[in-house]
Amino acid sequence: MKIGIVGLGLIGGSLGFDLQRLGHQVLGVSRLRQTCEQAVALGAVSQASPDLASLAEAELVFICTPLGAIAAIVTQLIPHLSTQTILTDVGSVKGSVVKALDPLWPRFLGGHPMAGSEETGIYAAQPYLFAGNPYVLTPTASTPVEVTQTVSELVSSLDCCLYQCSATMHDRAVAWISHLPKMVSASLITACLSESDPEIVKLAQALASSGFRDTSRVGGGNSELGCMMAEYNQTELLRSLHAYRHSLDQLITLIEASDWSGLEKLLIQAHALRLISCRDPLNPPKLQAQPPNQRTRLSQTALKPLS
Ligand code: NAP
Repeated sequence: MKIGIVGLGLIGGSLGFDLQRLGHQVLGVSRLRQTCEQAVALGAVSQASPDLASLAEAELVFICTPLGAIAAIVTQLIPHLSTQTILTDVGSVKGSVVKALDPLWPRFLGGHPMAGSEETGIYAAQPYLFAGNPYVLTPTASTPVEVTQTVSELVSSLDCCLYQCSATMHDRAVAWISHLPKMVSASLITACLSESDPEIVKLAQALASSGFRDTSRVGGGNSELGCMMAEYNQTELLRSLHAYRHSLDQLITLIEASDWSGLEKLLIQAHALRLISCRDPLNPPKLQAQPPNQRTRLSQTALKPLS
């Protein structure tokens, strides 16, 4: 298949590596000519240029730019495409993207690979980034079945665990497990910086080990992505942040009251819930299937073993 990728950064470059390995011809477009040259040199794409017209012959195009640029890029790209080209994106928020792109291109399907890292740019791209991780597709009532089928097959060939749901459900779910953790982790780092004694700050930095490394990782990552998550998923992120504030208040109340058994109960419950909610890649949670003709479809394919 001839596949286009717009935005040769972490996600676009990683997709390029995998799709090329699978035998597709991958054409890249990125804003900077230097990025295009780097992507070709690294082997993420076979050719690349900053010109969207270079994707005229692509059968399927992945839009992998920051969320705020997606709609404008698609508007500029459309005049160059054949009417049969399938468009999909990888944006971390789906409601706003689907709302903007559905009316623009009848063969558009929203998507979100649940994989990444705190690094950005083409040098952060890596082969097999998506293998073993969820990949969500968000078809609407107007998405042609054959478009969903083609994108599903392509995404499954990356050894992802494929899910389908509405954009609304996606945004509410990822607010809990991706956008809230990013904000909590960032606020943890900011809170530590509020220590007024520079000697304590120095000592804390020297003593910080795996616990702080783990809890601060996502908060210290891509700040542009964090801002976009908040801007484009504001309602759901706020809902989860308010719930989190309530949880923090409960913790403070227990500790102020020296209610150690209450605290222990809460921590035991958290331990048990974490074991349930953290995905076992070899045994992904079963979602309840709904009739395929409903607007909100929820389905899942089995995780394929890595070859
Ligand atoms: P990234 O590493 O910063 O890559 C985005 C690339 O897009 C940049 O390297 C930039 O390349 C290019 N770009 C920016 N504006 C452009 C424009 N107007 N036209 C063409 N190219 C442009 O970011 P990323 O992490 O890959 O994120 C890309 C998308 O993936 C976002 O929508 C994000 O929500 C989604 N996503 C991210 C993650 C994650 O963990 N990072 C996970 C899942 C989904 P130049 O060097 O040419 O400027």
